[in-house]
Amino acid sequence: MSYKQEECTACGNLVAPGENAVHFPCPKCGDVLLWRCERCRRFARSYTCPKCGFEGP
Ligand SMILES: [Zn+2]
Ligand SMILES: [Zn+2]
Repeated sequence: MSYKQEECTACGNLVAPGENAVHFPCPKCGDVLLWRCERCRRFARSYTCPKCGFEGP
């Protein structure tokens, strides 16, 4: 069994399994899965889509 390690799109830290993180497709291009770790959610840090450059909270 292996855990897939995902990186938070906003801060670049690895998202730990079981962490209260969220992921969703980019609202603009829909091609990239964006991740937000628990800390970035709490501090409402903004993220940038690596593909289309969309910035959002
Ligand atoms: Zn983060
Ligand atoms: Zn995008």
